[in-house]
Amino acid sequence: MYVNLLHFPKLNRSIIFANMSQPYKRVLLKLSGEALMGEDKYGISTQRIHQYTDEIKRAVECGLEIAIVIGGGNIYRGMNAEETGIERAQGDYMGMLATVINGMAIQSILENKGVQTRLMSSIEMKQICEPYIRRRAVRHLEKGRVIILAAGIGDPYFTTDTTSALRGVELNVDILLKGTRVDGIYTADPEKDATATKFDSLSFDDVYSKGLKVMDMTAFTLCRENNLPIVVFDMNEAGNLLKLIKGEKIGTLVAS
Ligand code: UDP
Repeated sequence: MYVNLLHFPKLNRSIIFANMSQPYKRVLLKLSGEALMGEDKYGISTQRIHQYTDEIKRAVECGLEIAIVIGGGNIYRGMNAEETGIERAQGDYMGMLATVINGMAIQSILENKGVQTRLMSSIEMKQICEPYIRRRAVRHLEKGRVIILAAGIGDPYFTTDTTSALRGVELNVDILLKGTRVDGIYTADPEKDATATKFDSLSFDDVYSKGLKVMDMTAFTLCRENNLPIVVFDMNEAGNLLKLIKGEKIGTLVAS
């Protein structure tokens, strides 16, 4: 069954959803700033942002509730600040502002495509986005709006991976979808080691015992302690997001 929910904003989404064979009702999609860069060296690739927003739009049309956490590495990373003589915490705030720029771009393009969105920031910026308030975020999701969560968790020394884990847990999402440019978790970095092989699935404990890098440790531990499954998948492969939400085995699943 295919129902374009954008045409029926007042329909009860949970009733429609119950009739569809999709494994997830609500997801958190983590997009890194670096992925948004595409083949460019800096900033936002037009081709890439349109590809991502097209996929997100199709997922919303299938009834999926989507919270997006966007990174900022395509513009600024706090970790590099000290090399320039900028204090680390200051650099981290600059990185968080970079995520707001990306969030504004995604919001604008999604809305041009007819998708209802709300941009929510963990640092107050009332002229351009709503403050992040958990209960309000849940309400937006229930109403079928895509929420774009910017400015990380609002504190330095954290990452947008940790933001994804935290928001994923508190918004009760079914799964954290980590869209990257590689198609899953490998025994070694496949861009550096030709013998690296991909895992289809792993337990949280496997990731620890094999010393694999899925997300930073804070983010990973939050997912593990709260039993939030993660899928690492290639977001650049057209159609992957849709396949995933239909239950196809794409990328690597990490679950307990
Ligand atoms: N950042 C932060 N606190 C947060 C989230 C992000 O200080 O809660 C800063 C940090 O400097 C980081 C930058 O924002 O380097 C951009 O985020 P991230 O590197 O996670 O983006 P991505 O790698 O996903 O593009």
